[in-house]
Amino acid sequence: MGREVYPLEQEARGKKFGEMIPRLEETRQKVREAGLWAPQVPTEYGGLGLGFMEHALVCEQLAKTPYGMYVFNAQAPDAGNMEILNEFGTEAQKERWLRPLCAGEIRSCFAMTEPEHAGSNPVWMSTTAVKDGGNYVINGHKWFTSAADGAAFAVAMVVTDPDAPPHGRASQIIVPTDTPGYRRVRNISCMGDEGEDWDSHSEITFEDCRVPQENLLGGEGKGFAIAQARLGPGRIHHCMRWIGISERSFDLMCQRAATRETAPGELLGSKQTIQNWIAESRAEIDAARLLVHHAGWRIDQVGAKEARVDVSLIKFFVAGVMSRVVDRALQTHGALGISDDTVLSFFYRDGRAARIYDGPDEVHKSVVARRILKGYGVEA
Ligand SMILES: Cc1cc2nc3c(=O)[nH]c(=O)nc-3n(C[C@H](O)[C@H](O)[C@H](O)COP(=O)(O)OP(=O)(O)OC[C@H]3O[C@@H](n4cnc5c(N)ncnc54)[C@H](O)[C@@H]3O)c2cc1C
Repeated sequence: MGREVYPLEQEARGKKFGEMIPRLEETRQKVREAGLWAPQVPTEYGGLGLGFMEHALVCEQLAKTPYGMYVFNAQAPDAGNMEILNEFGTEAQKERWLRPLCAGEIRSCFAMTEPEHAGSNPVWMSTTAVKDGGNYVINGHKWFTSAADGAAFAVAMVVTDPDAPPHGRASQIIVPTDTPGYRRVRNISCMGDEGEDWDSHSEITFEDCRVPQENLLGGEGKGFAIAQARLGPGRIHHCMRWIGISERSFDLMCQRAATRETAPGELLGSKQTIQNWIAESRAEIDAARLLVHHAGWRIDQVGAKEARVDVSLIKFFVAGVMSRVVDRALQTHGALGISDDTVLSFFYRDGRAARIYDGPDEVHKSVVARRILKGYGVEA
């Protein structure tokens, strides 16, 4: 990581993602040659076949630099799509989509959130798929579809039975992005940057978009269950990434405190405020990691469904720890922290979304509190 991946940060300064692709491909090739490609992918698809907690430990290391997950082919949203295709895909779907995805030959995206509906309510959406002959005809509007720019296919969450109980209404369907009627409207400008290629979030529309019924993933009405299967253990990996980002920021903060002088011979690290930030950050990161490991252990013991509260706990707790640690590290660097000369300004911009995606923090807090209050005889 130190020799091959961290240096990409400085090379990427001021460049768009597309300009970096040749360098990233070179590094991806080195990862393959080192026998470290796709740590989370089963060996039959060319990965290392790590178990989900083993991969969680790897995520912490890879996430310490913005391109880490990508050059190992462990990046969202492809990693999640690999997981659900492996678990729920037919043999034909695996051959057509999973194999090239695992090989890093194509990319993919996951289209669930709609601008017209609160994404925090995952069972409320209006994109529909209606059967017609051997096809599904899809109509609808999605946004914040990460990495849709350049993706070969989208896994779209669509309503197939509006009259079913809420959790049985939606299905997941694979939509090749060259299907007529699929349109990427724009890359949404986020925090001043519309990004490109993998590093982007798109608005997309489906207008009478026809795909064969064989593109249904895992059965009709199973969309929500598949999303849960993807998100539960996936949140462990997100949280470990956030811990990696926190550790890197912490390290930069300590280096700065140990070298920056506010007057000749007077180190920044001698100030009590900075010392407080160092001590508080150390405690918070260590606590966050132990909590995530505990949630992973719970998933192993009782399954993702039963461990739902443990997973909600880590989602909001670790996102908060990362926000605070990155903010303290940035502040410790003064103007240098605001500049793009260190990775901190990237972590600061990019990390803010962690409190929103994968379920806003407030929703997860509500899940935790309601479960606790149930123990007191209250259905809140
Ligand atoms: C960087 C990024 C990448 C994303 N990538 C994808 C992707 O690849 N595919 C995809 O489908 N979606 C993606 N999303 C969308 C994401 O899943 C949604 O933004 C998220 O589910 C929240 O939905 P919303 O934006 O509609 O906010 P809303 O549901 O409108 O919520 C707005 C705010 O209201 C508050 N709130 C909501 N519900 C409650 C509640 N029950 N109690 C208290 N407060 C509440 C929260 O503060 C919340 O932030 C991405 C989002 C971001 C920011």
